[in-house]
Amino acid sequence: MIKYITVHCSATKEGKEFNSKHIDRWHKDRGFRKIGYHYVVLLDGTIEVGRFESEQGAHVKHYNKGNIGICYIGGLDENGNAKDTRTRAQKESLRLLLKDLKKRYKKAVIKGHRDFSPDLDGDGVIEEFEFIKQCPCFNAKKEYSNL
Ligand SMILES: [Zn+2]
Repeated sequence: MIKYITVHCSATKEGKEFNSKHIDRWHKDRGFRKIGYHYVVLLDGTIEVGRFESEQGAHVKHYNKGNIGICYIGGLDENGNAKDTRTRAQKESLRLLLKDLKKRYKKAVIKGHRDFSPDLDGDGVIEEFEFIKQCPCFNAKKEYSNL
C-alpha cells in the first residue's frame, strides 16, 4: 500500500540541466542498485521514470516502504544555498503528476523530504548526498494539501 508520496529536489544548482541518468549514476556510486526515485521532473517539465511504482524506492531513509519518490531538478541557488528553483514547467508537471498519483493512491499523504525528520528514530544519521533539512526547498506539504 502506498502511504506517502514524497517530493525531493536533486540539490543541484538553478538552471543546470540534469536528468534521471545522472541521478542513476550518483545513486549507483553510493551503492544503490539504481536511481532511488520513481519520477524525475526535468527543467522543461519532462517527467522521467526512475523506478516503477511497483518497485520499492530508495529516497527517504527508514521510510521507503509504500513511499513514491519524486525529484525535481534543482533546489540550490548559484551559491549552493537552498532555493525553490522550480520552473513554471516543473511546477505544472509536479502538480499534474501528484494529482494523478493522488487519484490512484487516495490514502497517500504528500510530503516533502524534510517533513521526515532524520532524527525521528533517534539514530542521528543524516544523508550526506542530500540537503535533507531543506529538501525539497519549498513547503510541499502545504502547497499540495488541496490535491
Ligand atoms: Zn530529498
